[in-house]
This record gives sequence, structure tokens and C-alpha cells, in this order.
Amino acid sequence: MLQRCQGEAIQVFLPSNVMSIHNCEDLASWCMDERVPVKLRKESGEFVLNINADTEVKMSYCAWCGESLHGGQKPNSLGAGVCKHVEDLAAKPGSSLKYQGCWMLGAGDLSVRLFFCPTCGRELPVDEERRWEKSPSEIAMLTTMFANIKSIGQAIEQVGPPDFQRGPYEDHFYWKGKRSYIGYRKSLIYERLAKTVDVHVVDWVGGELTVKFLAKPLGQGPIGQKQAKNKD
Ligand SMILES: [Zn+2]
Ligand SMILES: [Zn+2]
Repeated sequence: MLQRCQGEAIQVFLPSNVMSIHNCEDLASWCMDERVPVKLRKESGEFVLNINADTEVKMSYCAWCGESLHGGQKPNSLGAGVCKHVEDLAAKPGSSLKYQGCWMLGAGDLSVRLFFCPTCGRELPVDEERRWEKSPSEIAMLTTMFANIKSIGQAIEQVGPPDFQRGPYEDHFYWKGKRSYIGYRKSLIYERLAKTVDVHVVDWVGGELTVKFLAKPLGQGPIGQKQAKNKD
């Protein structure tokens, strides 16, 4: 899932008249990624989410880390849930917010998870209900199955052809607001091996092979490309 990192401040994006510096790599990254409908208005220093052709919403709270962007205080009495703001935005025709407003659709097949309401800062619910609970016995079985697999070739040899694959291709990611090459070469996805999880075998350029067991979606959902960040 999405990494929520704190790190370098993003003052590079902020005009000199904006006092507060938001210390959030996620917002910086999504702002710079032209596929994602989050923009910084350079003149005012305001971050906006484009909802549809007629609607944009000014972010009072960072949708990724929940911090106030204008020094406001959010009521911490509210537990995680979908507030009226997000519900209304998701209901607009052609809204970029989907799945109870917790995901924002970008260009292509990119979907970006939102963690907080941009208006009131309420924490949005995790979407576990849309995914299978991982079965411990399946995870144990798959862990053994993939324990000695060190390459894509070995995976195909020992487990068989994947149900589908991605790549090989080059892609870019906007980490910390800078365009960088993703050293991503190819991945195999096995859906048939288990009932509760899909297996993603990712071969990175110059890196190690990673094998991930990701919970299967229960029904309709942002299946496929989930986050530019983890490309798995
Ligand atoms: Zn943030
Ligand atoms: Zn709200």
C-alpha cells in the first residue's frame, strides 16, 4: 500500500509569501505527477483537488498525512469514517473520487488512496472490507512455494506461467517532486494459486526480486494498478 513518509520539506513548491511549509513527501509527489488531479496554485500556495470539470476543492488538510495546511485544528473526537464532504464530492457527476471517496482516479489506470478528508481532516476508513482477509495457511503455503525463487525465470519454471504479466517497460515516478526513473522491469501476477491473495513477483532492474502476497479485492475496486509508488 501507500507509503506515508515524512521527510524533506517541500518549500521548493511554495511561494515566498506562504509561511507554513508542509513537510510531506506524498503531497509533493502527487502534486508533481501530472496524472494525478492534485495541483498547487503557485500564486496562493493553495493545494487543490480537481473533482470534475466544474469542481475543485481546496485542501485545508493534507489528504495523505492529515496535517492542517493552514494551521487549523481538526476535532479529534471523530473516528475514522467517511464524512459528508467526501461523500458529496464522490457523488458529483464524473467525480475523480471513487469507492466511498477513499480513492482518487488519475490518468490511465492510476488510483491514489486518500487517507484524510481534504476539508475537515477526518481520517478516512481503511478499505479492508473490500479485500479478502489473508489466509495464514495460504500465506504459509506460498511462502514455502516461493522461498527459493530468485528470478522471474525460476518462478515460471517452478510455478508455471503467470495469469498475467506487466512489462517489461520503463516508467517514471515523481518521488519528492523530482522525476525519476523507476528501475522496474517486469512483474508476474499469479491469481490462481490462492483464494485470498494474489502473488506479485517483481523483477527490479539492478535490484532483488520481490515477491508479495496481496489480498484479493472482494468485488469491484481499484484492481490492477494501485499506486505508482509500489508498482506491484
Ligand atoms: Zn501531508
Ligand atoms: Zn470532511
